[in-house]
Amino acid sequence: MGFTGNPAGKLTRSFAKYRYGSFFYSGTSKENCMSSIQFVTDRDPHEREFHQAVSEVMESIRPVLEKNAHYRREAILERIVEPERVIIFRVPWVDDQGQVRVNRGFRIQMNSAIGPYKGGLRFHPSVNLSILKFLAFEQVFKNALTSLPMGGGKGGSDFDPKGKSDNEVMRFCQSFMTELFRYIGPNTDVPAGDIGVGAREIGYLFGMYKKLAHEFTGVLTGKSLNWGGSLIRPEATGYGSTYFAAEMLAARGETLEGTTCLVSGSGNVAQYTIEKLIEMGAKPVTFSDSSGYVYDPAGIDRGKLDYIMKLKNIQRGRVHQYAEQYPDATFTPVDPELGYNPLWNHKANCAFPSATQNEVNEKDAQNLVNNGITVVSEGANMPTMPDGVNIFLEHKILYGPGKAANAGGVSVSGLEMSQNSMRLNWPREEVDKRLKGIMKNIHKMCMETAEQYGAPGNYVVGANIGHAADSGMARLCRCRPVNGQPAVRNISYEVIMRLQALKHKVLRLLAENATNNVSPQVMDTDTIAGMLEISLAETKQLLKALHASGVIISNMEGQYSLITQEGIQWLNQMTFTAHQSVQAQQQL
Ligand code: NAP
Repeated sequence: MGFTGNPAGKLTRSFAKYRYGSFFYSGTSKENCMSSIQFVTDRDPHEREFHQAVSEVMESIRPVLEKNAHYRREAILERIVEPERVIIFRVPWVDDQGQVRVNRGFRIQMNSAIGPYKGGLRFHPSVNLSILKFLAFEQVFKNALTSLPMGGGKGGSDFDPKGKSDNEVMRFCQSFMTELFRYIGPNTDVPAGDIGVGAREIGYLFGMYKKLAHEFTGVLTGKSLNWGGSLIRPEATGYGSTYFAAEMLAARGETLEGTTCLVSGSGNVAQYTIEKLIEMGAKPVTFSDSSGYVYDPAGIDRGKLDYIMKLKNIQRGRVHQYAEQYPDATFTPVDPELGYNPLWNHKANCAFPSATQNEVNEKDAQNLVNNGITVVSEGANMPTMPDGVNIFLEHKILYGPGKAANAGGVSVSGLEMSQNSMRLNWPREEVDKRLKGIMKNIHKMCMETAEQYGAPGNYVVGANIGHAADSGMARLCRCRPVNGQPAVRNISYEVIMRLQALKHKVLRLLAENATNNVSPQVMDTDTIAGMLEISLAETKQLLKALHASGVIISNMEGQYSLITQEGIQWLNQMTFTAHQSVQAQQQL
């Protein structure tokens, strides 16, 4: 059913266009996009998933390159497509029969221009360099879109946790961390979960890290609450993708209430997508795993979802067991000869692909359109193949690409990092409110950018350019030294001086409050104005500049959160770089 990747050796239609069409030869920004794709394909011809992810982004950001010649001069694209570091290592472990087994471990440290590398670990037999590079590449752009200071990375192993005992999973995780711990740290690289890596695996990994590094820090996110996890982190990706769908509908004056929804997968993302859909009055009717899918026309309610959660998270069973428990539901096994996934061929209003990459092909997309779908919100990473995306766009489907729609997970990971730095736990309502705010902002940015670039309603353009133009690429460009010169732009000398003042005052406040157990990390504008002893209007102007420069971690509803330890380090680095830049400009 073409569920796990492109057919071997076959270029996608849009990819072929880059390679052989007129597109390649006509115009400098086009050449630049094309040369980046060529660079990637020539260097690593076998990495099909990575090529697919790169070509999708390149297609969208061409207008940005046209407007910003310096991005081309400074070879920003060529730099963005090459990982800063790739780590591959052997993971030997002993199974329950006493037999030594060997798997391969990976960590792709893709880009740290705007913060420590951040991205999940995937344990699945299909894991290879191409899949992890595509995920790491997407993660760089996704993280920039959240407006939190996180670079992008991804890692994992071809280890399959399915069918393994808890002890085997523990021994594997401990061995994996024995090597990985050298390369990660709360200010270097902060992994999280992904396919096959949930709270159980994160617990084993964190325990081993703590032992080896001899410190308790927020080096992994997605931890259990007992050892520094954040409330709402397990729910965040599924909730976020549902909030994103609700935002897309709201822009048309519609809601999720009363809609029928198709969901794929039955893991972390799918479970919490179903939970939020139920809460919002929608009717989810499907879910799946790699053995097949279940269709329950009566809808999955709270009680049935509890059954799924127990089945998948505790019993680690297969989805056909649901149809045995609820006989009105039907189970359809995977048929590799079919050429499409029948899960996407039911009458419904919304679709939430939440299993894995390339799970919606061209035929699936056409089936969804024919069945009356108006919204597609991607919980999974790159679940729709390029030809499928084109069908959604042609039919004006509200299509939320994974980079934007599933950014809720990494956003709450960012909030977990902040809470760990502050040694604080925010209540559930606080984290959920922030998650909602972030998803709302991402939606707004995507929608407005798409309009600005002449593609109203096209969230792919909005998501790829949104961060490329306004935060991601601009921030990446500003932070990278070019020809030995720091490339800080758009920060006036006055703002740098204010930064210095702010830093010293904040450091003092931190020291004062350390004894009082008060957290100064999250402040409103009035408080900051008071601290700086400047007017509210001036403070607003300064905060805007700081936010645009990536110094402030988040800016929601008048609340600015910048004073975590990472924030201070970031501030130091930015101030230093900005000073150097001003000196360099003065010397010119
Ligand atoms: P998970 O808990 O491990 O669940 C994955 C689900 O997808 C399982 O039902 C699994 O079925 C199914 N699946 C995996 N590979 C498959 C394949 N090749 N063919 C068919 N089904 C397959 O993982 P998850 O965290 O929900 O992640 C799901 C997707 O969301 C992934 O694309 C991930 O990158 C993306 N994502 C996750 C997060 C997060 O916070 N977890 C954040 C952003 C994006 P089996 O059990 O049979 O393998």
